[in-house]
Amino acid sequence: MRGKRMAEVYLPGCNLKCEFCIAPFLIRLGEIRGIQWVGAADLVDERVGSIDALGFGGGEASIHVDYVIEAFSRCRDYGIDTILETNGYMTKRTAEKLAKYTAHVGIGLKASLDKSYYKEKLGVTDPGPIREAAKVFAENGCEVVLTNLTDPNLWNDTQAFQALTTWIAHDLGSETRFALGPLERGEIPPPWTDERIHITPREQRRAHLEAYLKIAKENALSNAFCIPISPRVGRQ
Ligand code: SF4
Repeated sequence: MRGKRMAEVYLPGCNLKCEFCIAPFLIRLGEIRGIQWVGAADLVDERVGSIDALGFGGGEASIHVDYVIEAFSRCRDYGIDTILETNGYMTKRTAEKLAKYTAHVGIGLKASLDKSYYKEKLGVTDPGPIREAAKVFAENGCEVVLTNLTDPNLWNDTQAFQALTTWIAHDLGSETRFALGPLERGEIPPPWTDERIHITPREQRRAHLEAYLKIAKENALSNAFCIPISPRVGRQ
């Protein structure tokens, strides 16, 4: 997308309940307010000529599947590129529908899809549908970019990470872009969580990411890289 003009639309609501979600911070800080629902056709038509790409994120965009498809279908008519950012937790049928209209998909994984972590921290019993959805997008020709958020004091399992990277290389392809990032938090915890996420020093998080990046490269993911750690969040 470098050099392109992109509009990114954040859709409300989510089907996960991550304890580190940043949305409650933004709501409490007043960054999210006065949300106005705009029809998909108007959303696109009003931006023709002023954008090269339209992206949907959230919240979770896939729970608004019909809206996203209507907008992306219109984008295709106008030659506007399409980007979907998702947590990946959707049915195979939803992934199949979205894949027909989406050029690029960013899927945010947490803790290498560790089943017990998803149950305890994200509120779902089985992250299996995320793998299935990623595969559907890849098989339908979408560019799939995966991010994997982690933190040494929250989750640290190199075996599970090896399994994840092996699966990506095998099922999605070793050229898949794979970004490793820190779980970051602001200063105000959401109501359903505790304070533990604040305590990891930045240097420790950086070393953790670099160690995991080495594993990803060893598992043949040639396009693995680390997302820079924000200097504004967390302890030094
Ligand atoms: S998937 Fe994203 S938007 Fe949904 S609860 Fe988790 S962090 Fe928040």
